[in-house]
Amino acid sequence: MDTSRSTGPIVLLGPPGAGKGTQAKRIAEQYGIPQISTGDLLREHVRTGTSLGLQAKDIMARGELVPDGLLYDMVAGRLREADCGRGFILDGFPRTAAQAGWLDAFLEHQLFDNSKRGKCLPIVMQIDVGYNEVLRRLTGRRTCPTCGRIYNAYLQPPRVEGVCDLDGSKLVIRNDDREDVIRERLRAYEEQTRPVAEYFERKGRLIHVDGSLPVDQVSERVLGDLERRVIC
Ligand code: AMP
Repeated sequence: MDTSRSTGPIVLLGPPGAGKGTQAKRIAEQYGIPQISTGDLLREHVRTGTSLGLQAKDIMARGELVPDGLLYDMVAGRLREADCGRGFILDGFPRTAAQAGWLDAFLEHQLFDNSKRGKCLPIVMQIDVGYNEVLRRLTGRRTCPTCGRIYNAYLQPPRVEGVCDLDGSKLVIRNDDREDVIRERLRAYEEQTRPVAEYFERKGRLIHVDGSLPVDQVSERVLGDLERRVIC
């Protein structure tokens, strides 16, 4: 783990099932910075029954996107925490063009404005994977409720079926990983999140990574690309 340098903000884009969570964990380990998944933060709000959680619960169960305005305080609060000081990885945010604009403005004018770190726009990586491949990955996805490790029943199975290799917990299927909900999540991605990639592409800031490669090769490319760009 390299904790001597600052990476600044890193954004991972790509459809659900592209491997953002897996790659985010590897970047987090490499640089000692936190992975911030808005899906995980929202699931925690739902679990603990906060007012945000109550508003988001049914929307998430249908596979739709939570309205932009509900997310900004949650994200801003998390990014202001001390562990984000050298950098952080956003996984699952921004997911609409409006969120992308909000993030750029927030980073530029609020998070970094008065700090010695200076202006620091995110490094944005898009993990590209085709529709049928993500469908296969999502229907096989199993998660460890204890350590968060992600498996795939077909592609990356645990040593013992249904059991986490690391801590022996019983693996679970997320309730939005059912096929009808998956199709809705992919539709939301095509309609609302594609424009985010286009937003960063127009600004010449989008790095593409082929996410259909084996997971270790994807990591090699992701980490290699980051290494060339980590300048702060
Ligand atoms: P994920 O774990 O990233 O697949 O997110 C799970 C669900 O949380 C999504 O299907 C959305 O309902 C909601 N969600 C997560 N991040 C966002 C976001 N940036 N904007 C809107 N909804 C989100």
